[in-house]
Amino acid sequence: MTHVIDGNAVADEIRSDLSESIDALGDAGVEPGLATVLMSEDPASETYVSMKQRDCEEVGIDGIHVEIDPEAPAEELYDTIDELNEDPEVHGILVQMPVPDHVDEREVLNRIDPVKDVDGFHPENVGKLVAGHARYKPCTPHGVQKLLEAADVDPEGKDVVIVGRSNIVGKPLANLLIQKTDLGNATVTVCHSRTNDLGAKTRNADVVVAACGVPQLVDGEMLTEGTTVIDVGVNRVDADTDKGYELVGDVDFESAKEKAGAITPVPGGVGPMTRAMLLYNTVKAAGLQKDVDVEL
Ligand code: NDP
Repeated sequence: MTHVIDGNAVADEIRSDLSESIDALGDAGVEPGLATVLMSEDPASETYVSMKQRDCEEVGIDGIHVEIDPEAPAEELYDTIDELNEDPEVHGILVQMPVPDHVDEREVLNRIDPVKDVDGFHPENVGKLVAGHARYKPCTPHGVQKLLEAADVDPEGKDVVIVGRSNIVGKPLANLLIQKTDLGNATVTVCHSRTNDLGAKTRNADVVVAACGVPQLVDGEMLTEGTTVIDVGVNRVDADTDKGYELVGDVDFESAKEKAGAITPVPGGVGPMTRAMLLYNTVKAAGLQKDVDVEL
């Protein structure tokens, strides 16, 4: 029987474990604060930000939300980041991507105080991650590690194929999985759009992580019996539903499930974990900045 990994249940556990750390911060007079900044009218981005704010409220993190007109000059966003960097009540800052074309995304990432960079995308934090002493593990890759742990799949010694080499998923996940640490010690192959014969790579893997943004690219034909399949993808495809679309992953769930030993669904797999790990990083950030041991 294929184990369908329940990301909502694992995320719930992480949230409930966090409550002790949030209490410890409260005892020290600290309420962790997360600022989300939205400079977009994209409905998906709006939804992501409002879900993150709701998550904060549920666990006792002070959610601060700033909206900037997407037509406003880039400086308005840069100034907002500077103000949030200075605000002692704000411990984590998340600028929802993508930002409009006239805003320099790299400037945004560089501008956030690295200690408040709960996404883990500031070059200083990327460097720490690669060097093996991450300050904040980026949320989605960290969530993938936690899902593997929950499914009892220790990456040590395993051949892991990651489909996708983005800075937010593929590259940091590869870096985490090759570390000489718990939930690391894997042998990792990172594939991308120029990879020859992707199926030959995925068929040789113990674990396949699909993060390519191509709906249902990885199917059962590309897997061998017993492979663990983690589907990071979230794609809106036209469908005969009330909303006119449905969400599908980068894995063809039905055919992949026939082969997989364990598999994550979409929705309800990696998505809730990304959100939970953002809360985790925010609590960690508050502990670091206020010198409170939050034992994560
Ligand atoms: P990007 O578009 O930034 O990167 C996609 C990567 O996939 C690129 O490296 C690209 O290669 C590679 N790729 C594209 N087509 C193919 C192909 N046919 N074969 C092999 N590799 C291919 O995507 P993200 O990393 O931002 O996101 C990936 C997916 O994960 C998306 O569906 C996104 O919505 C989802 N996502 C989900 C999150 C969650 O919380 N569940 C969080 C973040 C993302 P190349 O570099 O050569 O272009």
